[in-house]
Amino acid sequence: MIIDFHTHIFPDKIAHSTVSALAKNASIEPHCDGTMAGLLSQMEESGVDISVNLPVLTRPRQYDSVKAFAKELNEKSYKGARIISFAGVHPDMENALERLKEIKSEGFLGIKIHPDYQDKFIDDDSYVKLLQYAKELDLITVTHAGLDGAYVGQPIKCTPKRVMNLLDKIGGYEKLVLAHMGANELFDEVYNTLASANVYIDTAYVLHSIGRDMFEKILVKHTEDRVLFATDSPWQKQDKEIEIIKSYKLGDSVEEKIFSQNARSLLKI
Ligand SMILES: [Zn+2]
Repeated sequence: MIIDFHTHIFPDKIAHSTVSALAKNASIEPHCDGTMAGLLSQMEESGVDISVNLPVLTRPRQYDSVKAFAKELNEKSYKGARIISFAGVHPDMENALERLKEIKSEGFLGIKIHPDYQDKFIDDDSYVKLLQYAKELDLITVTHAGLDGAYVGQPIKCTPKRVMNLLDKIGGYEKLVLAHMGANELFDEVYNTLASANVYIDTAYVLHSIGRDMFEKILVKHTEDRVLFATDSPWQKQDKEIEIIKSYKLGDSVEEKIFSQNARSLLKI
């Protein structure tokens, strides 16, 4: 079984314009059209059984409409393939804690935050409060981590040091998932500061750039029990990313943990 823990899809009506705008801002190429049907057909081609959709709120007022689409995704299924959507949250939402409770009661397994798009450092009080409560509610939180292509030249909002500071403030958070191997483009800092902390990291987007040596260094120190296979589709293609992991010849048991076992225990499926 293969679970892709980090994908993005959009309602059909806005998928094309949204993917084009994001691609332009971050100077990246899409490899999928960003629709549910597009993702499902790539899942079929590449043998991905489940994809986790991670909506990003760039403004607090997007909360309701984004959650409605996420809910719709969770209610649909297609040819046995499945998409599990998390809810997007923003630290500046009114009644943010109430909304987390609502997310939990509506059956969402987790939330997604993006410190760069939301213009706050990950150890800012607003995230501390939000994640403290998400932890109490036993929700998974996935955060973008490290450099984002749309914010080159600006201070990186989620660095390994700031994550350690956040974890200190909230007394650890086992169900925190740091995207992009802990911090896109800051792999030395991940290795030195963060690897071996009791959090998950995902492989989204970075398999083409991290290099095998650094991937394996972080994998060994962080252990294969807390690494999740992820692509960041539409920004990478699922079959290519699977190929890269397989080319590392990590052994059946390590591969199984990364491709599905760790995600299944986190998602309780
Ligand atoms: Zn992403």
